Amino acid sequence: MSDTTTPGDTAEAAFLAELKAFEGRAIDAQVAPDPVNQAMIRHWVEAMGDTNPVYVDAEAAAASVFGGIVAPSAMLQVWPMQGLRTLDRAPDATDAQSQLLNLLDAHGFSSVVATDSEQEYFRPLRPGDHVTTESVIDSVSAEKATGIGVGHFVTVRIDYLTTERELVGRQRWSLLKFRPGTGRGAAPAAPAPDAEAPAAPRPKRPRPGTTHDTQFFFDGALRHELLIQRCIACTTLRHPPQARCDRCGSYDWDTVTSTGRGEVYSFVVVHHPQVPAFDYPMPIGLIALEEGTRLVAQIVDCDPADVTVGMPVEVTWIDDGDDLSVPAFRPVGAR
Ligand SMILES: [Zn+2]
Repeated sequence: MSDTTTPGDTAEAAFLAELKAFEGRAIDAQVAPDPVNQAMIRHWVEAMGDTNPVYVDAEAAAASVFGGIVAPSAMLQVWPMQGLRTLDRAPDATDAQSQLLNLLDAHGFSSVVATDSEQEYFRPLRPGDHVTTESVIDSVSAEKATGIGVGHFVTVRIDYLTTERELVGRQRWSLLKFRPGTGRGAAPAAPAPDAEAPAAPRPKRPRPGTTHDTQFFFDGALRHELLIQRCIACTTLRHPPQARCDRCGSYDWDTVTSTGRGEVYSFVVVHHPQVPAFDYPMPIGLIALEEGTRLVAQIVDCDPADVTVGMPVEVTWIDDGDDLSVPAFRPVGAR
């Protein structure tokens, strides 16, 4: 019988124990700079294109099940945001979250990407509610190898409370602190040999997480049909897919097939983080379709520097194996 423990294993175990000791530690509370208020609600729903009157029309809200103005639930995270004041994480910070992230930095896990966020809402917030948070470090994972690098997942649980100590919402969000240059497709550490090695096969694109409500979209895409959900009761089109019509509340829906023509409503050019399945820089557009809905998609057959807002585009299809096709958009007339 031989002891296969190496000094490296021992150091790794000690490091993991040091990380695990952060689980359950409290993170400094955040107090919302302002109480829930009509002005911020109005700006938010205008930016989101949400026309539900319960957020802005006192009379309509009074007649609704809420009995008055409420804030959109999805604004939960907005209220305690600290703006630009907390962008710097001091190396000598004493709060648990900064200490944990600094520790990971010091061990080479210096890159970060947010990986997941889930929220629960216990009651709608109303103007005048003043939100504070109580947060803990929920979990720190063992070292994991992921597509973008080797790292540790950190999950934080944030409870949202009013000043009366009523729990109104809860969020869990996760990030991955990873070692740059260790992902699949990363450049090899040693210089490449002179001999021409066959190029590694390109990894497949990440698969979308589909649900009962979204599967039709990807089924249509496999047939190269760009489908838009339509409410059967009031004929309103909607995208992204959802179970229920925002306008009339109906759960009945069918689909229409888009012409695939539209224009670039907005766009970004992604440089980082880089996932091996894609080429960078990669323009991603918010495409306004002729039918009136918008969707997010890659812009292809076009120099990223030439993409402009208002550029007329048409759909084309990216086939990635037998099980996935996704719509992309190219300038009208591009070949
Ligand atoms: Zn409807």
